[in-house]
Amino acid sequence: MGILTGKCGVVFGVANKRSIAWAIAQAWHQAGARLVFTYQGERLKDNVHQLAETFGADTLILPCDVTRDEDIQSVFAQAGQAFGSISLVLHSVAFAPREALEGDFVSTSREAFRVAHDVSAYSLVAIAREAAPLMTDGGSIVAMTYYGAEKVVPKYNVMGVAKASLEACTRYLAYDLGPRKIRVNCISAGPVNTLAARGIAGFSEMLKIYEARAPLKRNVVPEELGATATFLASDGAAAITGQVLYVDGGYQIMGM
Ligand code: NAP
Repeated sequence: MGILTGKCGVVFGVANKRSIAWAIAQAWHQAGARLVFTYQGERLKDNVHQLAETFGADTLILPCDVTRDEDIQSVFAQAGQAFGSISLVLHSVAFAPREALEGDFVSTSREAFRVAHDVSAYSLVAIAREAAPLMTDGGSIVAMTYYGAEKVVPKYNVMGVAKASLEACTRYLAYDLGPRKIRVNCISAGPVNTLAARGIAGFSEMLKIYEARAPLKRNVVPEELGATATFLASDGAAAITGQVLYVDGGYQIMGM
């Protein structure tokens, strides 16, 4: 029996086998959880089916653009029908228009700012609102963030501002949902080579800087994010909510 045996959940953000969401889904599955997967559009459908069906041919895999309330409502309606109640949600979704991740932050357009915040921060609020009624015996909502929320990381630009919003949303959601035994936390991951990460200018340089400066002298591996998310989902984290947990080899403590 795993520590998540008997728990059911919904995973947002698997694009391919390198996705952080896939590493976390594998860890949750190995710990005994039953999961529903979502994908954004037809482009990713086959990828996500191939991966998710390794958990069983009957795994529920649903389309969901997190900017559409009706998509989110439909996902949780179907998850409710399949499982009755749920106790886990993973939010591992972010997007900003490419041009906003290349130039100066001061040049960010109103539209790029809106889109980045809608997809990367507001979606957590919309997802938590629909998930909460199904979390009848409490639950754990985990979102992925990055250090660019609190310090300037050149070129991370509007995504850093959206992550700051995501982290603040986590705290307000934790306050609202705490009385219902629903915990909401962020994992702040060091850089991992994924599709989204490759959209950030200078990403490979970032990997080298972390390796050189982080106390552990290496980058984080996806399995470690899976292990942290499993802890946050488990009863071992029953008194932890509204937090940002750094899984970054210790990089966040450094001043220089
Ligand atoms: P990833 O594999 O590209 O995952 C990002 C996911 O977000 C993709 O599945 C993407 O789908 C999805 N997404 C974007 N817009 C969406 C929308 N409107 N509706 C639904 N899904 C949408 O990259 P990742 O690195 O694993 O990113 C996962 C999370 O970890 C993100 O929140 C990211 O900011 C965070 N994070 C990543 C790192 C890193 O270094 N990789 C570090 C810290 C935090 P599409 O491909 O269709 O857009």
